[in-house]
Order: sequence, then structure tokens, then C-alpha cells
Amino acid sequence: MKHIVILGAGTGGVLVANTLRSELNLKEWQITIIDKSDQHFYQPGLLFIPFKLYGYDKIDDIARPIKKPLPDDIHFVKADINLIDHEKQTVETSEGDYVYDWLITSLGCQATASAVEGLAKSMGNDVFTFYQPDSAVAFQQPLEDLKEGRLLINIAEMPIKCPVAPIEFAFLADYFYTLKGVRDNIDISLVTPYSGAFTKPVANKILSKTAREKRINVVPNFSLGRVDGDNKTIHSFEGSSLDYDLLCSIPPNLGPEVADTSDLGDGTGYFLTDPRTLKSRKAERVFVLGDNSNVSTSKAGSVAHFEAETVVNNLLREIRGEQVLQSFDGHANCFIETGHHKAMLLDFNYDVEPVPGAFPTPGIGPFSLLEESYLNHMGKMTFDWVYWHMLLPGYLGNMPLMTAHMNLMGKDIHQMAPIRRARSMYVKDLMTTTVVTIEQGRSLADAANLMSKHDISGLPVVGPDKKLVGILTEADFLSAMNVDAHPTLVDFFQTIILRRRAKKNMGSIVDDLMTKKPITLKANDMLQRAIEMMDRNKIKRIVITNEESLVQGIISRADLPKLFLMKG
Ligand SMILES: Cc1cc2nc3c(=O)[nH]c(=O)nc-3n(C[C@H](O)[C@H](O)[C@H](O)COP(=O)(O)OP(=O)(O)OC[C@H]3O[C@@H](n4cnc5c(N)ncnc54)[C@H](O)[C@@H]3O)c2cc1C
Repeated sequence: MKHIVILGAGTGGVLVANTLRSELNLKEWQITIIDKSDQHFYQPGLLFIPFKLYGYDKIDDIARPIKKPLPDDIHFVKADINLIDHEKQTVETSEGDYVYDWLITSLGCQATASAVEGLAKSMGNDVFTFYQPDSAVAFQQPLEDLKEGRLLINIAEMPIKCPVAPIEFAFLADYFYTLKGVRDNIDISLVTPYSGAFTKPVANKILSKTAREKRINVVPNFSLGRVDGDNKTIHSFEGSSLDYDLLCSIPPNLGPEVADTSDLGDGTGYFLTDPRTLKSRKAERVFVLGDNSNVSTSKAGSVAHFEAETVVNNLLREIRGEQVLQSFDGHANCFIETGHHKAMLLDFNYDVEPVPGAFPTPGIGPFSLLEESYLNHMGKMTFDWVYWHMLLPGYLGNMPLMTAHMNLMGKDIHQMAPIRRARSMYVKDLMTTTVVTIEQGRSLADAANLMSKHDISGLPVVGPDKKLVGILTEADFLSAMNVDAHPTLVDFFQTIILRRRAKKNMGSIVDDLMTKKPITLKANDMLQRAIEMMDRNKIKRIVITNEESLVQGIISRADLPKLFLMKG
């Protein structure tokens, strides 16, 4: 029997356990998941509990027994994890040692009031946090009792999980006190170490405007040094101070101690992780998932969900003796509740900041990015059901449009500074020049093989004289096989390669399936023209040719994120 051990039975841990279970033969593999908690919390619900809004009143509304989302054939161990001995491939716990062939850490992070002078001591005494279930419930009465005065919402330091939750709390406080008719008597301030309401420029501008409209004061660049509970004051390291009548604290969110004590951490309590493969940078056979990693995207359930695809795929590839793929792009999306039954939506990744637009379908939505709408609010409300019934059991990965890779479709990318700069650039500045091509007459299985091997989704087709005669893309394969999308392109191509020809009427050589007379551009054309042509023709890539129709390069939507890595 071989062993996969998963540390933590929260969002990420349960999702990968359920996904791996359907991928592996459980007669050969045992999947063990270890957690110290009795309960699994739907943490997004914590936001509403202090206000008793939208049906969230008590802990039971967000909690289930820890084993509930796990099937019986997954071995659950209730224990404290003390050490990961990666040399011996063993996890030491309060209930004994567990040997692993592969390990996945998904231990999350914890709001830790004791990390700030005076904060833990003041908790419960006009100081509360909605980041912990007990404190979220204890917060209800003081919020109700506040009829006038100063409500401070303070983020002690970054990173925190769900970095938009504090501003959501401020928006909901505005809504709550408006409903109670006392809003004019209450001063609401968001006190943050950020330089504004949010980090990214476009989202910051829009969220700052919304905060202004709701009369929420944003106090930037405030790093919490200490809390003086007796005088109801918070002090920053920079030397400034602010008074409160009621303090909503977001304490430092610390990664699991076991990361650093096991020599797998980055020195600040988070597992040192390769941001694209999600492998530990310090040990073999260890993958890192969710909030406990140090990758530079949001700490959010949506991220754990998108990361799970890379973790599971790469783990299975290692088992088969294959190279891991650099497939994670930092994709995150989150609803921002703004009160009055409305919410916004953010969708972004390592390279592309949140911008306005429609999600997931261009022009149709139904969700709107960085814009308040009732449908966004309904999306957030529905997510509770989706979380327990689709995300945790591992069904969400198969949903079309909910792809782990972020899609630029529907996004108003022209708002982004790098895109504005791109208007003055040429196609040659961004195009990929090492282009894999295929000759006319070659088999479709050969083409699928090439695409799978190079992890690419389009192949220019050239004639015997090397001149461009067509283009063959993954979309051509998908439509020939009558499917809308496939979660993993590589697996999809493997199916075609193995069966040689997946469907009789799809033909047998590239000429049968390719788009003849593809749209082309020249290297000296403006990049702006390439973006417009891709938008207008709803295509993802354009082949670049010279005057003799020889292939010079290829420019694709996937190249656009490169803009964001370019220095301005
Ligand atoms: C107020 C709030 C609102 C949020 N809203 C959203 C939202 O709207 N959208 C969104 O996408 N995300 C949201 N999140 C974030 C989201 O809940 C987390 O990012 C997500 O749960 C992370 O999953 P995880 O598996 O990494 O960690 P978790 O789900 O936190 O699981 C970690 C598990 O590890 C266990 N554990 C830790 N240490 C040990 C140890 N030493 N021994 C044994 N077990 C251990 C814990 O008991 C826990 O069960 C919110 C979070 C909060 C606090």
C-alpha cells in the first residue's frame, strides 16, 4: 500500500482528498487526512455573523462536523501535527507518526491576536474579530448596542486571508447602521497598512470611490504596533494613534508553526512554494495548497480551489514519472459584499490585476466585475451551497467557464496601465518567436502529440515550401469532438493520441481539421491591432508571417500577461 498524506481538512485538504480519491486505485493507495479540529467552517459566512445578516446568526450556520465532507474510504485522523520529517517522509502528530509517499500541506493560516501587544488582552472588551467564529458571535451585541461613536476596522498587518473581507465588513457596517437609522451618528473608518482601500490600482480607485460614497473613511499606511484597551486607542509603528468606541480587529494571520519548525518555511511561517508548480521549494514529494503557502496571490478559498487542479495533476504526473507542469497562474476571484443586497466581483491572477468587465462570459456575464449588482450578491449567497455540495466534493473543476486558469475574455483590459503602454508597441515586441509548426498531411494524432508535448494550444500548418497554409487549434479538436471545453488539455490530447482518432468524422490528417487561410499579421504591425483583431474575431492567437508567408512568430492572448512583467 502506498500513502498520500494530506495535512489539514479545510477547504483545500478536503477538495484534493475527494479529487485524488476518484483518480487513484484505493486498493493500492491509502489517502490519509489529518486535522486537529472537530469542525469544518465555511469561513466566508463569518463576515455576516456579527450583523446577523442574510440568515447567518450562529456558528451552526457555517459549521459541519469535520468528517462530514469526507467519504468513508478516506482515512481521517484527528490529531495535532507537530513535525514534518521530510528526510524520513514522516509526519509526527499527537496520535503517532504517519509515513507518506507524497504529502500535501493545506494547514491554512490563523488570526493570532497574541502577536500584537495588548490585542489579546483587549479581546472581548470593545475589541472583536470576525476572523474567529466565537468572536464573530460575541461581536453581535456590541455592534447592536453602538448607537453613536467611532467604529474602527483595523488590519494589523498583511498578508491576511480574504484581503477584501475588512472592506466588506466596513460596507456591511454602513448598511447595518443605515437600516437601524443611526448611520449619521457613527463614524466608520477602515485603518489599513495598504496605501489605499486595496493594493491594485484599478480596484483601489473603484473601491475608494465606493467607500467615499458610503462615507467610510480610509486611513492608509497604518501598521499596528499596539492596542491600548484601557484608553481605547490603537497605535501604529509609525507613531500615530487613533481612538475607538468599538474596534473590529483583523489580527496578524500566521501560517502554521510546523512550516518553519520542519525547515520547510520561508521564515515567516508559510511554506516556501514554487508559485507555478506548487511544489515545496525545500523538499521532494511535498505539495503546498491554499493559505499556508507563500505564493503571491490572495489567500482565498477560490485560490485553494484553482490551485487544487495543479496540485492533483502534478502529483499524478510525479507518480507516473513525468515532469511537473508550471500550470498555476495565481488565479483568484472573490465577491465583495457592499450591502443593500449588492456585491462586486474581482477576478485576477499573478500578472493581471482586477479590472471591470463581465464574468464569465463577455457581454453576457451574468456577473459584473468591479461593479455593484444584485446578481453578484446572489452569486455570493449561492456560494454557500456550492461550497458544500460542489466545491468540497470536487465537482466544480468540471464546470465550463469556471476554469482554474484565468480567462481574459470579458475583461476590460484596456483600463490597465500596461495595456495603455502596449498601444505604442509592435507585435514583434511581444510575439513568441520559437514556433512549433506541423507540415500538411501529417496525422491528427501527431498534431495532438506535439501540442501535448509542448503544452501549446495552437499549431501553424505549413506546406512543403514552409509557407503558412492553415492553423490547427485545440478549439478545432474540441468542436470536432463536440465538446465545449476540457479541464485538462493534456489529458484531452492524450485521449486523441491513444485512440489515434477520437471520432470517425473528424478526419485523420491535419488538413481535415485546420482553419485554412488563417488571419495573419506582420511583425511590424502595432500590438493594438493584434488585440483588436483577436477581440473582433474571437480568436486567441494570430500567426505572424513575413512577405513570403513564412512563419515568423505567433502572438496569443496568453502572451498579454508578459506585458505586466515589463518595466514601464
Ligand atoms: C472572514 C473570512 C471571510 C472569507 N471570505 C472568503 C470569500 O468570500 N471567498 C473566498 O474564496 N475565501 C474567503 N475566505 C478565505 C477562505 O476561507 C480560506 O482561504 C480557505 O478556507 C483556505 O483553505 P485552506 O485549506 O488553505 O485552509 P483552511 O480551510 O483554513 O483549513 C486549514 C485546516 O488545517 C487545520 N490545522 C491547522 N494547523 C493544524 C495543526 N497543527 N494540526 C492539525 N490541523 C491543523 C485546521 O484545523 C483547518 O481545518 C474567508 C476567510 C475569512 C476568515
